[in-house]
Amino acid sequence: MPRILVIDDDPKVTSVVRRGLALEGYTVDVAGSGPDGLSIARDHTPDLVCGMTLNEKDAAATASFEGTEYYFCSQGCHAAFMADPKQYAGKQ
Ligand SMILES: [Zn+2]
Repeated sequence: MPRILVIDDDPKVTSVVRRGLALEGYTVDVAGSGPDGLSIARDHTPDLVCGMTLNEKDAAATASFEGTEYYFCSQGCHAAFMADPKQYAGKQ
C-alpha cells in the first residue's frame, strides 16, 4: 500500500488530509513540523529494489546516484541497483 507523509503545523489541516488519503487507500504518516517529518521519513526510507522500507540507520548498504543517497536492505539489493541505477531511481 502506498505510503504518504503529510507535514503541516495545523492539526485541523492534517486531520482532513489524513482522512481523505486514508479513504483512498494510502497509509498516512503525519508530522507537525519539518524536523519531525524528516525524522519520520528517515525511519521509513524505501529500498527501491525490493520495495521494503527501512530506517536509514539500519541500511545494509547505501549508494549515491545523481546527487541523491539511496538505502538498501542488503548487499544483493545494492548490487542490483548499481547494475542499473536509472531503472530504480525513477521509482521514488
Ligand atoms: Zn532490499
